[in-house]
Amino acid sequence: MDKQQEFVLRTLEERDIRFVRLWFTDVLGFLKSVAVAPAELEQAFAEGIGFDGSAIEGFARVHESDMLAKPDPATFQILPWRAEAPGTARMFCDILMPDGSPSFADPRYVLKRTLERASDRGFTFYTHPEIEFFLFKDMPLDGTPPTPVDHSGYFDHTPQMVSHDFRRQAITMLENMGISVEFSHHEGAPGQQEIDLRYADALSTADNIMTFRLVVKEVALEQGVHASFMPKPFSQYPGSGMHTHLSLFEGDRNAFYEAGAEYQLSKVGRSFIAGLLRHAGEMAAITNQWVNSYKRLWGASARTAGMGGEAPSYICWGHNNRSALVRVPMYKPTKGQSTRIEVRSIDSACNPYLTFAVLLGAGLKGVEEGYELPAGAEDDVWALTDAERRALGIAPLPQNLAEAIALMERSELLPEVLGEHVFEFFLRNKRQEWEEYRQQVTPFELQKYLPVL
Ligand code: GLN
Ligand code: MG
Ligand code: MG
Ligand code: MG
Repeated sequence: MDKQQEFVLRTLEERDIRFVRLWFTDVLGFLKSVAVAPAELEQAFAEGIGFDGSAIEGFARVHESDMLAKPDPATFQILPWRAEAPGTARMFCDILMPDGSPSFADPRYVLKRTLERASDRGFTFYTHPEIEFFLFKDMPLDGTPPTPVDHSGYFDHTPQMVSHDFRRQAITMLENMGISVEFSHHEGAPGQQEIDLRYADALSTADNIMTFRLVVKEVALEQGVHASFMPKPFSQYPGSGMHTHLSLFEGDRNAFYEAGAEYQLSKVGRSFIAGLLRHAGEMAAITNQWVNSYKRLWGASARTAGMGGEAPSYICWGHNNRSALVRVPMYKPTKGQSTRIEVRSIDSACNPYLTFAVLLGAGLKGVEEGYELPAGAEDDVWALTDAERRALGIAPLPQNLAEAIALMERSELLPEVLGEHVFEFFLRNKRQEWEEYRQQVTPFELQKYLPVL
């Protein structure tokens, strides 16, 4: 047993922890958990705990269903909302096949494999997500819209205290779990919140996002409200994005930074962005994986700049251009180390492991092949005409899940990054979702057609 594993076992005893939840994530990004007694942990560290993989979305077919969950002791945390003694703790797991080899279906492994590819080239990949979500008074399941907890807007600080208390408590709980929060505020829509996590290596960030979603939902329930990461719950208000800032480091040097270059952006940084742009269409099904995700990207409120809309619809980059898919935020002259790239398409309901893997895969491809960065978009790209955008070489993102699936199907990069198993499963699952959706007759059609046709 190694030192970290010993530390976990000792802490369990000292803190009277009687339940340990082993966490992992399915291919669509849902958190899974199996609780084990502390006595089982030594065995879990040595070989993993067996479970039936065929019951987990995207993991295995029935005839090859035995899998093992092996906890990663570096992710050990006591769960603060189960504070009463005896306590509960959690660890994220790696998923293994019965012979001990990593499972190709495990999203955490997909990301680890891509991070290793980066590290072969001397790069560490850091991410910093800005996570948006809604707080509702209710959670109706019959298709009627939920009621937001307040009527505030961007950065509002009003006497309606639900959001305020909520953020304070959620942040305290996250900090108790070792997840640092950098920034939080009310977002543009009623009931909408944003909490930004401090940047960390991409694997920790992905783990942290999974924890974040659960903590936010737990704290909401404690306060008698409901949290949702659905990308676009209301047609008339902006949706919830998860803008993510990316950087590559070589040792302790920011590989995106070059003193004196335009926007202080190095050659590596420029090719990385070029990779993100060239592969944006084929990655969309991963970064924006639901039918509903495309309502956020294309909804009318995406264009309400200054009101917290600002979801990207077109594939371009810009310096401080909030209509662009990729933005190079303002450079702070004192800190060359903070040069980074903000990707704005991603939504809060993505699988963070797969999302970071494809972003890194696309960026690295750009770096490896020396992609040239096209000219930046200085204008508000929504305000241009189609012809003007075409002339500038600015293509649209997929307009719905079906278009995203079609682009992913033709991708050479994605099967390489995701592995054939996840790639095929994902496409099959998403085709089904689209099929189900397009068979629906919606309230929109009834309202529009019934009275006049
Ligand atoms: N909610 C917007 C989105 O969907 C972002 C708003 C903002 O942070 N400027 O991307
Ligand atoms: Mg923000
Ligand atoms: Mg925001
Ligand atoms: Mg942002």
